[in-house]
Amino acid sequence: MLEYPEMYTIAQQMKKCIIGKTIQSGELHKDNNNLFMSTDDADKYKLLYDGTITDVDFYAPDIFIRLDNGYGILICQCGGKFLYYQDIAKIPDNHTIHFAFTNGTGLSYTMKLWSLGIFAIKHEDWDQRKKANAERQFQPLNGTEKEFIDFIRKVSIEDPLASKIFLAKYVAGVMSSCAGAILLRACVHPSKKIDVLTEEEQHRIYTAMQSLLSEACEKGGRSSETDLFGVKGGCTTVTERKDIGKPCPNCGNILQKISVGGIMAYCPECQKNK
Ligand SMILES: [Zn+2]
Repeated sequence: MLEYPEMYTIAQQMKKCIIGKTIQSGELHKDNNNLFMSTDDADKYKLLYDGTITDVDFYAPDIFIRLDNGYGILICQCGGKFLYYQDIAKIPDNHTIHFAFTNGTGLSYTMKLWSLGIFAIKHEDWDQRKKANAERQFQPLNGTEKEFIDFIRKVSIEDPLASKIFLAKYVAGVMSSCAGAILLRACVHPSKKIDVLTEEEQHRIYTAMQSLLSEACEKGGRSSETDLFGVKGGCTTVTERKDIGKPCPNCGNILQKISVGGIMAYCPECQKNK
């Protein structure tokens, strides 16, 4: 899945290479059961035609490519690859969705896991979507520590989840891989319920979230994903299934297997469940 650092990286790269370009066409090239949009949604890509890109907005977990004709391209949370092509004729046939620009360049999306979809929406709908998302999820690199702790308290009453599941569900752009890494850095057990976290643990989670996500953004995302030019990110994962048995980056102890919102690695020394 593309998480916060990769979506951030892709949005920054899009700002550099697609602003000023004009949409010639867009197509749902190969439909897929794990793509949660319809061919009717793809028909609306026609609304984008002849629009020129003026900005690329990243508001986790979404990217919005803003056009000068009142519409834009909404990219929702997804597992897959976005690639920029200097020559649209070189986009391989196995891609899922593409957009062609009038100067012969283009953008493709190829699905790997699942995708909530890519939609043509109005500027007003994007503003509404951001507002709704701000109510529901915490923006990890925008909010203060006090706002984060208040947010944990609020969610604790309605939905007292395990810390890892809380991060993946309620922190915008964070999913399983980043949630696990944040908790390992914070030395908090992934299944510890958020309503029993101490103030010190809440502080450590906030600090780890800030440092880990900022570093991963600077490094161009995680090494398990690629950027807009097909280059792997420079940030190594630490708590994915494949990391089980590797040494803990904090203490050197061997990471063990645990299942909290999916199989993951954790450190029984650093992340005691007390
Ligand atoms: Zn450890």
